[in-house]
Amino acid sequence: MKAGIHPETHVVVIKCSCGNELETLSTLEGPVIHVNVCSKCHPIFTGEEKLVDTAGRVETFQRKYAKFFEQQQKQQREREQGQKAQKK
Ligand SMILES: [Zn+2]
Repeated sequence: MKAGIHPETHVVVIKCSCGNELETLSTLEGPVIHVNVCSKCHPIFTGEEKLVDTAGRVETFQRKYAKFFEQQQKQQREREQGQKAQKK
């Protein structure tokens, strides 16, 4: 490594909320870095379909747009019925 151009690195322990721990080097000063999700528990690595939704954001979104989706489905049904009527 060339001297004087690299940031300082520290040995840190990363602790995930799932309980997984791993030791690595980081430019962040440790000694412990807490994370919410890691490669042991993130759905993309586990293959499980699990929502990481601690703040209830998905629910809030669904509540907020429930009327909009309802309206959209209604319009879709009306369009389909209109097409059937024209074919006859
Ligand atoms: Zn984890």
